[in-house]
Amino acid sequence: MNELIFATHNENKVQEVVSVLKGKFEVRSLSNLGLNQEIPEPYDTLEENAREKAHIVNKWTGRDCFSEDTGLLVDSLNGEPGVRSARYAGDHDFQKNINKLLHRLSGIENRKARFITIICLILKGKEYIFEGDCKGIIIAERRGSKGFGYDSIFVPDGSEKTFAQMDIEEKNQFSHRKKAVEKLIAFLQQQ
Ligand code: IMP
Repeated sequence: MNELIFATHNENKVQEVVSVLKGKFEVRSLSNLGLNQEIPEPYDTLEENAREKAHIVNKWTGRDCFSEDTGLLVDSLNGEPGVRSARYAGDHDFQKNINKLLHRLSGIENRKARFITIICLILKGKEYIFEGDCKGIIIAERRGSKGFGYDSIFVPDGSEKTFAQMDIEEKNQFSHRKKAVEKLIAFLQQQ
């Protein structure tokens, strides 16, 4: 089976992507490869950060790889936290980031939001971009204990549950990441 390197340290993301790619591609994460260095996300757009991550890991490994960058964009907050989703209140501190978001939304009626995932693939030295999104609402209090990040306050359109109340297969029926990975698979299968 073809092997693909996923340029991430986030094991939750790895599990979600493996569940989409299983049977088609074997996914190697950075920890599988013994690569523990931090990957910077220095830019102001998801796409630039995704490209940076993929190029760095391609340089480290000399192999084809893909990365992804995801943001949560809230309509009534002009797209906040967006590209700063991981560092909104505390660096990768989900609890602080959720608290800040709920505080900023308190008293606001429009709770519409969406996740956007940008995947960057480096294949034989060329770069390709794929995108997936998922619309939904931000609820006022956390519900559920699965998943990660903002999952416990996000209810996707078409469901009554938060992502944190779903197992991976159910989240993947709605997920931004799954939609982007499906575009990646479709592209790879044409190569
Ligand atoms: P990253 O920069 O792509 O790692 O992700 C930005 C932040 O968005 C992460 O730290 C998480 O807090 C959040 N995030 C990314 N993907 C998801 C998701 O699928 N559900 C909930 N939160 C997510």
